[in-house]
Parts: sequence; C-alpha cells; structure tokens
Amino acid sequence: MRDLAARNRVVIVGAGVAGLTSAIALAARGLDVTVVERAAAPGGKIREVGIGAARIDSGPTVFTMRWVFEELFAGAGLNFADAVKLLPLSVLARHAWDDKTRLDLFADEARSADAIGDFAGAAEAKRYQQFCADSRKIYQILEKPFLRATAPSLPGLATAGGIGGLIELRKIRPFTTMWNALGDYFKDPRLRQLFGRYATYCGSSPFQAPATLMLVAHVEQQGVWIIEGGMHALARALADCATRLGATIRYEQEVREIMVSGGRAAGVILTNGDRIEASSVIVNADVGALPAGLFGGAVQRAAAPIAPKLRSLSAMTWSLVAKTDGFPLSRHSVFFSRDYAREFTDIFGRGEVPSEPTVYICGQDRIDDEARLRDGGEEELLVLVNAPPIGDRKRFDADEIARVTQRTFAVLERCGLRIDARPDQTQVTTPEDFNRLFPATGGALYGRASHGWSASFERPGARTKVPGLYLAGGSTHPGPGVPMAGLSGRAAATSLLADLDAEAQRLKPAASKAT
Ligand SMILES: Cc1cc2nc3c(=O)[nH]c(=O)nc-3n(C[C@H](O)[C@H](O)[C@H](O)COP(=O)(O)OP(=O)(O)OC[C@H]3O[C@@H](n4cnc5c(N)ncnc54)[C@H](O)[C@@H]3O)c2cc1C
Repeated sequence: MRDLAARNRVVIVGAGVAGLTSAIALAARGLDVTVVERAAAPGGKIREVGIGAARIDSGPTVFTMRWVFEELFAGAGLNFADAVKLLPLSVLARHAWDDKTRLDLFADEARSADAIGDFAGAAEAKRYQQFCADSRKIYQILEKPFLRATAPSLPGLATAGGIGGLIELRKIRPFTTMWNALGDYFKDPRLRQLFGRYATYCGSSPFQAPATLMLVAHVEQQGVWIIEGGMHALARALADCATRLGATIRYEQEVREIMVSGGRAAGVILTNGDRIEASSVIVNADVGALPAGLFGGAVQRAAAPIAPKLRSLSAMTWSLVAKTDGFPLSRHSVFFSRDYAREFTDIFGRGEVPSEPTVYICGQDRIDDEARLRDGGEEELLVLVNAPPIGDRKRFDADEIARVTQRTFAVLERCGLRIDARPDQTQVTTPEDFNRLFPATGGALYGRASHGWSASFERPGARTKVPGLYLAGGSTHPGPGVPMAGLSGRAAATSLLADLDAEAQRLKPAASKAT
C-alpha cells in the first residue's frame, strides 16, 4: 500500500486560475500540494506584457463573478477582500458603430434602459428589460445544477431544476441559436450585435451558440470590477494564498510525462528528469494536451481529442503604450464591424482573421470616464480582435501581421479613434504565439466552441478515465473565463477529495482486519 504521505500528495500541472484554485482548496484541507508551472510567474492566460516600465494586462481584462473567489478564500479561512482590491465600474462598456453612433451600458440596469431608449426608442428599451429578466432567469436556473456541478449532466439539470425549471428554460428556447433568440428581443440590428458579442466570451459565434449563453449578459449586469494592480494581481494573490496554506509552486519547470502505476495516476516526470510521486494529478493545461500525447502515452486516452473544427476562438492582440485622440475611451470599449455574420464566416468558415473585425480595447488607465494618463498623455492599451484557431498550421509573419493591423486600426479610425502606435512600444500576439504558449490548441483560448445546444454538455468534467487523474481549466466544465476556470478548479478539488474519502472508506475494513 502507498505510504500515507504519498496518498495525500497531489501534483497540479499549471498555475493558471484553475490550478491555483485547486491548490488552495486542497492545501486548505491539509493535502500535500505541489504545483508545477512552465512559466516564470503564475496566471497562465492572465498574462502581463512589459513595454518599458509599463506592465500591460494582455489576457483577461473583464473581471466578474467575484463570489467564486470570495467563497474560495472563505473556505480556506481567509478574506478575499484583504488580498485583492476591487473597484466596481459604472460604465460596463462603451460601444461604437461609427464616429457618431455610440451606446454605453451601465452597471445600473435602469440607466442602461434609459440609454437604450435614447439610442433606439422606448419599445426597444422595454424589450431590453425583458431580455435582462430572461437572462437572469437562465442564470438562476443553471447556476446550481450546471455552473456549480463537478460535471455537466442533462439529467442532473432536470432533477435539480425540477419540472418548473425545465419549463422556464424551454420558454427561452435553448435549442435555438443565441442570434435567433436575440432577434425576438431586439429589432435594432445594432443591439442584436451588441448582445450577440457575449457569445465570444465563451470563444463562440453568436450564430452557432445556444440561446442559453444569454446568461453572460446577466453575469456582467451583476458587476464588472477593476483589480487594483491589474488582473495579474489576482494571479499573484491566488499563488500567495496557496503558498501560505502550505502548497509548493515550482516555476520554470515543465511536466513532460504523467506516470501511471497499477492503472492509476502516480505522479509526474519533469523535463529536467525530476520525478514527483503522488496519488493524484490535476492537469490545468488545455485538455487537448492529453490526447495530443504531450503528457505521454499512458494518459493519452484519458480525454477525448478536440477536432480542429470544434475549437473556440483565438485572438490577435496589440499590447501598447500610446497617445490616443478623437474618441472618449472608457475602460472597456468595443468598435463594431459592419457585417457581423461575415466576421464569423471569415473566422469559423474560411479560417481567416475577419476582413473587417470588431475591435475591443481595454484602456488600462481609465475608470468609467476618468483617465489617469501618464505625463506626455500616453496610456496603456490592450487592443484585441477575434481570430481563427489556426496557430498550429498558419504562420503569422510580418506581412500578415501588418495586414491585420491595418484592417483593425481602420475600424478604429472609422469610429473616430486615432492611436499613435509606435512599433517600439507595441507587442503583437498572434494565434501562432498563443499556440506556443498553450500547446495543442491551435491558439484556441476557450477549449471547444459552444456551438450547438449540447456543446456545453460535451466539455469534460473533472474526472478522467484514469483514476487519480483530474482536469481543471477553461477547456473543461463549466467553461472558459476567469471565474469559470475557478469553478472548474474547485470541482477538481471536490472530486479528488470525494474519491480519497471513498478510497479511505474502502480500505477501512481491510485495515481493521489486519490489526
Ligand atoms: C486574450 C484573452 C482575453 C481574455 N479575456 C477574458 C476576460 O476579459 N474575462 C475573463 O473572465 N476571461 C477572459 N479570458 C479567458 C481566461 O483568461 C481563461 O479562461 C482563464 O484564465 C483560463 O485559466 P485556466 O485555469 O484554464 O489556465 P490557463 O490560463 O490556461 O493556464 C494553464 C497553465 O498551465 C501551464 N502549463 C501547461 N502545460 C504545462 C506543462 N507541461 N508543465 C507545466 N505547466 C504547464 C501553462 O504555462 C499555464 O500557466 C481571456 C483569455 C485571453 C487569452
């Protein structure tokens, strides 16, 4: 029998949000936790890009569902508010279609309804309120049986939500696409486009995602926060918390193999040859890394491969320090393309960066309408467009980058925004770079796309086919995004603890017989 210490030892591959969440939940329960991370810092996709002295958040920038981390810290006897300072935003996002047409959405729903009334008329404002009520309902129906569950399950959904829940859900037509459902609420095509964009938060096209993804609108309505010190401060706080609870984090070390012994996970081997024995292993890398064989043959069949055509969105990003003028940027600003359907046909149909992309900008020195620019008027920006997940089969060379840059900045200029971007103060990240950072993904940033009504039920849950081997991260259930990855990390810890308890129960009679 494995000795007691090894029985309670867990290795976590990756210090992304989910890996760190699992580490906190397990270390708080007294397990011996080691996190192995390839990069020099925690966070994974919560990435900072350095330009001179500036540190630009170049991964997630919209922080929501803070309760996920409040619950995590509380479960470990700590207070999230002591570790991470949050500032609520009043303006959730500023949206532009050209240099005259703009609409702000606010944290205050009534204020948003007024703004929509001024923008598109009173009838549209009324339908917006119905849309908010319905997206709230979808969220409430799905929170417990889906978001908080350790694995996706349709029967589980039916049991937990009860017949009433299912009837409510049917009214929202879960089998139709988000785009069709939005057409019932909004007659103004600009509003349909604005709310359809929420599908991209899950790496998906609104033309193929199910209507249930409308719940993202409710999540934002519940609050969007800025993290003092940038999003990376969250990653550092999670890593500090895990370490305080006794976990060890080994940076700049890479796992090349997951060991299996007697049919169950038995630890990992690092590229430097070190072996760490353990009774349980949690993989926080993208799920695709397992079937691609990046962790060795013994665990290759532990998870199903994601076919390239099922991958979610990748992105092209520009992290830069520059002067801007002509447009009053808010913290989060969106500049829409003129043909939304074409944008997604370009990406998912033709496998190309859109000929005219929708552009998102995070103005990192801005809070609502207040700007705290540096001397000389420069500011830190992340510019992002969606891109196809083809980073493993297409080179993004200087010419291709120049072409996409030209198209992207042309959209901004059409909306009145000029960015004085200097090459020495700009760093571009392409799908090819994302594929290098997150191997076996093609640069897809959100696991498999949520296309089709059942796609959300096809993400793998925490348990795998190999006992003792668990999955956690944005490519697993319940889905991508910082808080959702946190929920998956918690689900992996819960499953692992339940399995250890069950094993202890199973061993009990044998142990008492032996004495
Ligand atoms: C550009 C961009 C914008 C985004 N915007 C938002 C947003 O605004 N709001 C939001 O909520 N979400 C957003 N997301 C999504 C969100 O960032 C992710 O869903 C979430 O951070 C994923 O966390 P994760 O736990 O899956 O781990 P990941 O971040 O994927 O980290 C996995 C870690 O595993 C490590 N690893 C992999 N293989 C090995 C190995 N063999 N050995 C050791 N270590 C290994 C990697 O180095 C990495 O650190 C965005 C993502 C990107 C990229």
